[in-house]
Amino acid sequence: MTKPSINEALLDPRALEIVHTLIRAGHEAYLVGGCIRDLLRGRTPKDFDVATSAHPETVRQLFPNCRLIGKRFRLAHIYYGRNTLFEVATFRRESEASEQVRGDNSYGTLEDDVHRRDFTINALYYDVQKHEIIDRLNGLADVAQGLIRIIGDPKTRFTEDPVRMLRAVRFMSKLGLPLETETADAIPKNRKKLAAVPPARLGDECLKLFLSGDGQACFDNLREYKLFTMLFPDVDHLFFHPNREFATYAVRLAQAALASTDQRVREGKQVTLAFVLAAFLWPVFQLQYAGMLRDGQRSWHEVMHEAIDIVLLAANERVAITLRLRAIIREIWTLQARLELAAGNQKKMVAVLAHPRFRAAYDFLLIRQQAGENLPALVETWTLIQRDSALMQQAARQRVKYERLEESSL
Ligand code: ATP
Ligand code: MG
Repeated sequence: MTKPSINEALLDPRALEIVHTLIRAGHEAYLVGGCIRDLLRGRTPKDFDVATSAHPETVRQLFPNCRLIGKRFRLAHIYYGRNTLFEVATFRRESEASEQVRGDNSYGTLEDDVHRRDFTINALYYDVQKHEIIDRLNGLADVAQGLIRIIGDPKTRFTEDPVRMLRAVRFMSKLGLPLETETADAIPKNRKKLAAVPPARLGDECLKLFLSGDGQACFDNLREYKLFTMLFPDVDHLFFHPNREFATYAVRLAQAALASTDQRVREGKQVTLAFVLAAFLWPVFQLQYAGMLRDGQRSWHEVMHEAIDIVLLAANERVAITLRLRAIIREIWTLQARLELAAGNQKKMVAVLAHPRFRAAYDFLLIRQQAGENLPALVETWTLIQRDSALMQQAARQRVKYERLEESSL
């Protein structure tokens, strides 16, 4: 068998520099994880992770631009500029979520380290001196076959850290690969364990699931493995709403938001989880709002904001939605009403155009239409007005004022 090789031209020179610095200081160090997996599969790695025998404190002393993070397990983050970082993890003995107290005895050798990783294809180490891959768990065979296989006993590993189930779905979606049978079979049986994961961690995982460019595939696979309901129970519930048309609308709205997000990622444009969550939760909000309007005497405006609070707070119990994201979702939703109310009135329309969240709100209107709402006149009005350069300039000037006001109120 010819050994698979890595095209070293695609390795990040800064990651290589980190590895060489560690080796020169007398430690073992390898590139590991997703970068090796992705290079072998012909994909450009998103980031480069390093595994080393050096303890975190030692790593910090070797790199001036280094910060240690993590409570139970300390990781070293080495920064290049403000936005680029490389993660350096010391070899360790036990797995991520085990309850052992941190101490030097939780660190181990490369032989230990392979077993604490999640999937065989993620447990490949690249030796930059020998130019070869270290493969203790037949990860290369799984890369070649195209299989995502959990390391060790699936039940034990998913119990230790239920987020691995989400990671399995993310990797299968990103790489377009199936899960190995035992790995796949264990997910429905262990999925409820995700309820014990802190919402903040699920929030982080949602960023990776939905904003990495494979959001549509992740969504489909999460539903297939009944994991979506563990993240967004109220949304998933609506996918089975007795009104089939409404249920289909809810699914299509989510898909349309993810399709648009995936497309933007491909084009290198900015994306936000707020847009995706706004689409997931919009049908939930619609029902909540309609129900509250029916039995109250208060203004629709007041009721709308209360309905928004209820829906976002309930969702936040499972997946943490930061205050900033909540503010954006609220703006996208309330702007939907303003898009209707302002249509036809030029002064009001300019005020809406000037809103910093107008673009997101307009995109949201488009996906509502795509998902089956009947909005052609409204879409046309708002599409046409954006071609009027005089009005757009007027709106831009208003926006500058608006943003100054916002700043001064901070
Ligand atoms: P990508 O960066 O493309 O999302 P990745 O595989 O590099 O994929 P990271 O989250 O960067 O994923 O983690 C780096 C490596 O750390 C993984 O490849 C895996 O070996 C290990 N790892 C990460 N999270 C876990 C976990 N929850 N359980 C076990 N091992 C993990
Ligand atoms: Mg990585």
